[in-house]
Amino acid sequence: MNQFDSQHLWHPYTSLPPAYPNIVIDHAEGVYLYTKDGRRMLDGMSSWWSAIHGYNHPKLNDAIHQQVNKMSHVMFGGLTHQPAIELGKKLLAIVPDKLDAIFYADSGSVSVEVALKMALQYQVANGKPNKKHFATTRSGYYGDTWHAMSVCDPVTGMHGLYGKQLPIQYFIDAPPMGFDQPLSADVKQNLSDFFAKYHQKLAAFIIEPIVQGAGGMRFYSPEYLQLLRKLCDDYDVLLITDEIATGFGRTGQLFACQHAQICPDIMTIGKALTGGYMTFAATLCTRHVADTISHSDTPALMHGPTFMGNPLACSVANASVDLILSNDIPAKARAMQSKLWQYLTVANELTAVKEVRCLGAIGVIELHQAIDMTKFSQLLAKTDIWVRPFGTLVYLMPPLITNDDELKHLCTTLIDLLIKYFNQ
Ligand SMILES: *Cc1c(COP(=O)(O)O)cnc(C)c1O
Repeated sequence: MNQFDSQHLWHPYTSLPPAYPNIVIDHAEGVYLYTKDGRRMLDGMSSWWSAIHGYNHPKLNDAIHQQVNKMSHVMFGGLTHQPAIELGKKLLAIVPDKLDAIFYADSGSVSVEVALKMALQYQVANGKPNKKHFATTRSGYYGDTWHAMSVCDPVTGMHGLYGKQLPIQYFIDAPPMGFDQPLSADVKQNLSDFFAKYHQKLAAFIIEPIVQGAGGMRFYSPEYLQLLRKLCDDYDVLLITDEIATGFGRTGQLFACQHAQICPDIMTIGKALTGGYMTFAATLCTRHVADTISHSDTPALMHGPTFMGNPLACSVANASVDLILSNDIPAKARAMQSKLWQYLTVANELTAVKEVRCLGAIGVIELHQAIDMTKFSQLLAKTDIWVRPFGTLVYLMPPLITNDDELKHLCTTLIDLLIKYFNQ
């Protein structure tokens, strides 16, 4: 730990000083993080879904070096550049077919704000200004800025703190759990009734496709997304899929909505977009959405971050997309699914464990009771792995270059740690 850090630097979702100290990292290489005091930790988090190719990757480093020697940044207002154009072409070639326009944003939360703005501007342009609210399911997570926060789960999200100040949105039950679980008639009826009742007020329905991440690490059926797509079409509600966590192969498909073979009207991407190198995100939409906004009385999309389309971020994203395609990252995630399942399933025998579930390169051990992070951190410090549970969820989403031996070590070390934790 570092004294200055504890006294002066806020870390995510913590008090100052934090309840337990932050570990000082000196450098990182491949699947390993190296601490200042000389420990090597096998990474089970990919730095929150982002470092899919591991750390200090020669091709990603090279992309940044080459770009930094040309220009690090230039404003995107009135100017453009090759890294942004190249990235746009690469993205449009791999995202669901109808997506045809891209807005580069500087973080995931901002790309969600842009998606929501797009939906509102679309409905106004479409002559339906009363369609100005958003619907979503419970257990979602869309980021920490104001409107993104307003569609996060009202209980596990930050509504408790900021509740009265947040805009009112429309929530329906979380999708039933289980990727392979067929949808019950009840669930279908509820969803249909919800649209029938509220559609006149709804600009868009926003959802994380297939995997609800920070709101509960829940997996749900592609059939649910298909039904949502149909209802959104029937009722002229835009479908926004937030692929910030799921995008770029993590779930076993390049984009999770491809499990359901649907195309959203608006899609957000971020996190792994730059292979975990820099903050960067994007909001994509269909030609129809872009045209409707652009042919309206107020044809401009009203957003424009200072660092929009940053050339360094675009160039490293370009190199990352090349690696994703040449290494078939989705296939690697699919292969990891059965291995994660094989190594984690013994955790089911622990009485404190509620459920073990895996999808793509995501392994989740859900507990009956929330983890005591102080106690967990002390035990973790005695291992050579890096994980960071939240609430009742202990989970792994390792870099997609993790080999079988490393994956096995990560899983068995984690389970041994949990056994010690529960026996103390
Ligand atoms: C992380 C995340 C965000 C927010 O992205 P930031 O870059 O942290 O602002 C939004 N949506 C989902 C699904 C995420 O996982």
